[in-house]
Amino acid sequence: MTTVVRSIADLRATLDAARRDGRAIGFVPTMGYLHDGHRSLLRAAAAANDTTVVSIFVNPLQFAPTEDLDRYPRDLAGDVQMATDEGVRYVFAPLQSEMYPERMMTTVNVAGVSEPLEGMSRPSHFAGVATVVTKLFSIVGPSRVYFGEKDFQQLAVIRRMVLDLSLPIEVVACPTIREPDGLAMSSRNVNLTPEARKAAPVLLRALHAGRDAIAQGERDAALVRRAMRNVIEEEPLVDLDYAEVVDASTFVIPSPLEGTLRLLIAARLPGARLIDNLGADVP
Ligand code: AMP
Repeated sequence: MTTVVRSIADLRATLDAARRDGRAIGFVPTMGYLHDGHRSLLRAAAAANDTTVVSIFVNPLQFAPTEDLDRYPRDLAGDVQMATDEGVRYVFAPLQSEMYPERMMTTVNVAGVSEPLEGMSRPSHFAGVATVVTKLFSIVGPSRVYFGEKDFQQLAVIRRMVLDLSLPIEVVACPTIREPDGLAMSSRNVNLTPEARKAAPVLLRALHAGRDAIAQGERDAALVRRAMRNVIEEEPLVDLDYAEVVDASTFVIPSPLEGTLRLLIAARLPGARLIDNLGADVP
């Protein structure tokens, strides 16, 4: 049985009781409009914990005024159905007034990994994410939390925050789930125009071109970027924001390229801005 909880006090009281009984709590924070990518996180959490909680909250703090907060898709009934199907015990779906009854005066800022790439394109985004995630961790008190590699830089920001603040939480990373044509699943995909949806798999093709270049011995980041950009330029509908290769843990660009790398890409398409990423190792 899945229960929808709207209030912070109710969720705390319920989960306090579960903790007293020695139950491990698995937590999956989301913005809802759940798809099979989210489903894989719910499934992993339900398999490894006694009690699983998913939060559905479109967090205004992580959207800039020009971004798509108003157009972000929502479907609470569908989300509750998926939670039920996956054995999730609680859906925490607070109203904005419950999470932010007053203007927030406290911000959690993670320096370093949050600064390049998404941090450059969306300057207050990761502070908004880190702040709401800290608040959600405080409300839920999870033993384990589940994040997707789809948002690879976000995962790095959360890992760093948990480390720096000594939060007693295990962060579990889950692989990116894709559509059959390679497009990474995202709640935002529904906002793409039909033409943009057809063009969107070019992001993964570009990432593969970058990875292939590294596999063939390329050690110059600029030339790996070029290889990715060349593929994106074949699709006139796709407006590249960045295509980069970085060290997967520090987000610094190694010169020459070495170690465990991550290729990351972001682009604007008609209807939505998309991000994707892929691992690449230099043996
Ligand atoms: P969101 O609702 O987009 O904020 O995402 C909530 C969580 O689901 C984040 O940890 C995401 O990284 C993860 N997620 C979103 N899309 C995917 C996907 N295609 N595959 C795996 N995880 C995903």
